[in-house]
Amino acid sequence: MKGLFVEEKFKMYMKEFPEVTDKPDHAVVEIHMCGVCGTDVHSFSGNNANTVYPVVIGHEAVGTVLSIGENDKGIKAGDRVVVEPYHGCGECFACRQGKYNCCKNLKTYGVHIDGLMVERACVPVSKMYKVPEQMTDEQACMIEPYTIGIHAAHQAGVKAGDHCLIIGAGAIGLICGMIVKTYGAVPIFFDPVDERLDKAKEMGFTHVCNNVKEDAVSYLYGLTNGDMPNVIFECSGAKPVLEHIHEYISVCGRIVLIGWPHVPYSHFDTANITRKELMVTGSRNSCQCFPESIRLISEGKVNTDCFISHIVDMKNAAAAFQDMIDHPGRYMKVLIRIRDK
Ligand SMILES: [Zn+2]
Ligand SMILES: [Zn+2]
Repeated sequence: MKGLFVEEKFKMYMKEFPEVTDKPDHAVVEIHMCGVCGTDVHSFSGNNANTVYPVVIGHEAVGTVLSIGENDKGIKAGDRVVVEPYHGCGECFACRQGKYNCCKNLKTYGVHIDGLMVERACVPVSKMYKVPEQMTDEQACMIEPYTIGIHAAHQAGVKAGDHCLIIGAGAIGLICGMIVKTYGAVPIFFDPVDERLDKAKEMGFTHVCNNVKEDAVSYLYGLTNGDMPNVIFECSGAKPVLEHIHEYISVCGRIVLIGWPHVPYSHFDTANITRKELMVTGSRNSCQCFPESIRLISEGKVNTDCFISHIVDMKNAAAAFQDMIDHPGRYMKVLIRIRDK
């Protein structure tokens, strides 16, 4: 069977692997399709410090169960499933709090351990979720990316009526926007790239601002009647915007840091955290968010089609990855077709 193998940076190809065999509490899944995450592209280009080479990439997959033992999830052979890709050790402090996404020995598919861009994979039943029948494979590949926004919204405790400033209108930012809308909150986007803001408008977001060209503080002041946004999702990791974040947030606001900083950044204005009683929290991957993501997508509460820009066969994946690096503006979510139709 074939899989998409990254031997070392910029050396990715289809490789023949021995057939997988079933293990206790695991199931063999025939993968149909797998989404390409920023993480996969970074593993390809050598920009993900966590990647353990060589590795089969991919963690946003959907497939059909080929063999499975008795299980308490009611999953049977022939069922379509998605797989949560973050595996905690079950023993560390984070895992004991149920925060396996912060496990000190975290193993993520396609990063620390072989991933799911492979024809068949043996996966733990505990990490599998059944996909509703009417949901397409393309939609199912968006379940994991949507969990990132759901987890961030949980971290911020987003409620109806909140003004949520989302800094960075890339895929993660847009996903956060879709999620907070379902919570009845008002998303507001900042991005220095007009094309990304245009894409946000195309997706139905009305409040977008080029925070470099426009007077960002006045824009927020006008939009919120002087209150300022009470939630900020920082999805850019960009230092210039982090320096101004305390000017954008309301009193008693909540700031969620999702983007990894591009450069180590330590100048956080702690006096303003005290003065405004701000809450600052991180959001890493997601934790127990698959059921909510499956429900929101299957009920049509969030759109997935607007994210999917390309579907590529495994054999053309390396060329597509290179083109994604050369022309990032042309791509949104790329899906790799693993199983022939
Ligand atoms: Zn992902
Ligand atoms: Zn752990």
